[in-house]
Amino acid sequence: MNIILLGPPGAGKGTQAQLLVEERGMVQLSTGDMLRAARTSGTEMGNKVAAIMDAGELVTDEIVIGLIEEQLQVKDGNGFIFDGFPRTLAQADALGDLLTANGQGLNAVIEMKVNDDVLVERILGRAEDARKAGEKVRADDNEESLKIRLMEYYKKTSPLLGYYYHAGDLKAVNGLGTIDEVKVEIAAILG
Ligand code: ADP
Repeated sequence: MNIILLGPPGAGKGTQAQLLVEERGMVQLSTGDMLRAARTSGTEMGNKVAAIMDAGELVTDEIVIGLIEEQLQVKDGNGFIFDGFPRTLAQADALGDLLTANGQGLNAVIEMKVNDDVLVERILGRAEDARKAGEKVRADDNEESLKIRLMEYYKKTSPLLGYYYHAGDLKAVNGLGTIDEVKVEIAAILG
């Protein structure tokens, strides 16, 4: 079973993906995590994406599609959870093509619905907690980058809702619930 978790930054995609990995043996493919790993590697690609990520903008389709293509070839498990990918229509088309080429498809696209006030509160709160605890704060978890991340989401990623709705794959869950409530809603969709 292959699924996409779709929603704005702070919607809880990573948290739910982690639970699906633990409980169902699925494989999480988070382009955000892959890019954060790439930037610490000191490679040319890593350096190029670091500045873009910190500003809250999207890195190029070519880079993230390449990362996903690579992972689809090396990872194996009880299905893939695409977390933070696709984020543009070009990425959505590319994912469809890659899955088809592997004789696979998408089983569900789960929209995690949350309102913007909550997103801003969650992300800036998370940064504040980390700061108080002396932990590392994500360079893009500040008010300015967050505003850009949200605008990128509305301009480039939210059209995917219509795209997947018409493909017949879209399901929504209430991302304002507790972690457990959201988990139960997702389980009801996946069966
Ligand atoms: P969040 O969902 O909290 O914004 P992510 O970890 O998914 O965080 O992504 C962090 C950053 O990585 C994004 O702001 C963007 O710069 C880059 N990124 C991640 N996934 C993609 C993608 N599919 N396409 C383009 N850029 C991406």
